[in-house]
Amino acid sequence: MTARILVADGMATNRITLKVRLAAACHDVVTAGTYAQLLQQARAARPDMIILGGGFVAPHPVQICEELARDRDLARIPVLMLAGKAAMLPALRAGAAAVLEPTVEEQVLLARIRGLLRDTNAGHEPQRSMAEAQAEFTGQPVTSGVTLVADCAARALLWRHMLQRRLNSRFSICNTEEALAAAAAGRAADLYLIAADIETRGDGLRLLSELRSRSGSRDAAFVIATGPHRAELAAIALDLGAGEVLPIDLGGEPGVEVATLALQMQLARKKQSDQRRADALRNRLWAMTDPLTGLYNRRYALPRLTEIARDALREKDSFAVMALDLDRFKRINDCHGHAAGDAVLRDVAARLEAVIGSSGITARLGGEEFLAVLPGMGEREAWTRAEEVRRVVEARPVMLPDLSGGGHVGITLSAGVAIGRCVSATFQPERLAEMSLERADRALMSAKALGRNRVMLAQAEHAA
Ligand code: GH3
Ligand code: MG
Ligand code: MG
Repeated sequence: MTARILVADGMATNRITLKVRLAAACHDVVTAGTYAQLLQQARAARPDMIILGGGFVAPHPVQICEELARDRDLARIPVLMLAGKAAMLPALRAGAAAVLEPTVEEQVLLARIRGLLRDTNAGHEPQRSMAEAQAEFTGQPVTSGVTLVADCAARALLWRHMLQRRLNSRFSICNTEEALAAAAAGRAADLYLIAADIETRGDGLRLLSELRSRSGSRDAAFVIATGPHRAELAAIALDLGAGEVLPIDLGGEPGVEVATLALQMQLARKKQSDQRRADALRNRLWAMTDPLTGLYNRRYALPRLTEIARDALREKDSFAVMALDLDRFKRINDCHGHAAGDAVLRDVAARLEAVIGSSGITARLGGEEFLAVLPGMGEREAWTRAEEVRRVVEARPVMLPDLSGGGHVGITLSAGVAIGRCVSATFQPERLAEMSLERADRALMSAKALGRNRVMLAQAEHAA
């Protein structure tokens, strides 16, 4: 993963050293030696990340970080700050996405860069100010769940003691097996704090990989705690998907604020990605469903019909297409109003869905026209099924809403059924889908012409 990185540092030697290290990892590096240059380059070069060194005198790097977080255009660029221990807390509070010591090992620096780029590519906004993240975090009605998997019981208790006063979370202490079993049972934590070495060396990293690979827990946030002299694990942990690496003692009392902020940041980020996934799912559903009836819409149904035709050609199987249209529906609108018409559409859609269910797809193509496609179905079964739909609709009048004066109205529908199957070796799925729908439509027109409230089977197709 290569990226454009803006290296900003007041000292030329720092800039050059970093530029060489990053260029060796194939990143495209631009540099800035003053605050003015930083702003200018950040706007002109649109970097994926800013690495902010310590060589600035005024404004102070922490202040620069605050300014960047406030800037509408630049706030989306994650800032990785290189600063000593003392500046860590203020830097995180100012909105730095991560803070590393200037003496950090090259492998850890590169792994951290990869992690931040991964986040940015996933659509995170790491540069939102920490205050914002914290407000969101503490304001959330559902407390998050944090699972602690430490190297010994005493450590887990100590972690919990240090964190529970500061984090608005439910804590659970687990061993490896319990953590995996809970995740498999749908009780994954929002955040896992895992010792890199639990019982054997590196088994915490294996647990991280396991949890990241399972559908129940892959979206959780992960923080790895490494013991002294195990710094080399940090780069591996970050590459395996940990969002943060902390010392095993969480920095002790003096460092616990930094650890807390880091964990809050991970929890806020996790919440943000949950939200994004929920939005994406909702948008997908909106794009493929008809808002009135909840059935699939035309945009979704027609490509699905082609896919079903493709499967049928491959499997040398058949599928049924049902074109359904309500009879004299316009009269319902005319006599009872549009709201009554809508109630009828919704009710008929629910009855259609109840008959077809998971054996196929049901869609509203528009107005009072519906479509059902049933994979693997032949003439006889398809006709019976369409008859069932027709009878279920005819059987019971639809209750009208109070808004339309209440009462009931009877409705019937007509259906045309066509069976799609391979009749020629050169048949394309698009063509088969199109022809099957046309044949079902023609059969529907015959059903209307013959007096409505009936099912007609289309004539068998001929080789093209
Ligand atoms: P036929 O038996 O020949 O199918 O007659 P019909 O009255 O059902 O068919 P026609 O195509 O003449 O009328 C369809 C009506 O459906 C006309 C239109 O106002 C109504 N319609 C289309 N979309 C909606 C909708 O979303 N809600 C309501 N209430 N009516 C709709
Ligand atoms: Mg009609
Ligand atoms: Mg119609």
